[in-house]
Amino acid sequence: MTADDRDWADDYRDCAEALRDLQFHLDAELSPDEAARLVAHIEACPPCAVEEDDFRRLKEAIRRHGSAVDQTVVARLRARCDDLLADPTAD
Ligand SMILES: [Zn+2]
Repeated sequence: MTADDRDWADDYRDCAEALRDLQFHLDAELSPDEAARLVAHIEACPPCAVEEDDFRRLKEAIRRHGSAVDQTVVARLRARCDDLLADPTAD
């Protein structure tokens, strides 16, 4: 997904920006306006919807299991997120 082929009515420059906001959103750190913009993007952007689902599952697992969560899994997901932010077209 590039900035050129998007057709949703938000003002993110690209998905990397949306994914960055997603991290704040999952921590409930976005303002209502920012959260609404992010949700609008996610609803219109399947790749970001997949990322949102993955991160929600991770947050849920951490909430349920606390310190029992395998930290290597957390580290791997964080690394994957960093990769996506560095190159939004990466698979
Ligand atoms: Zn997106």
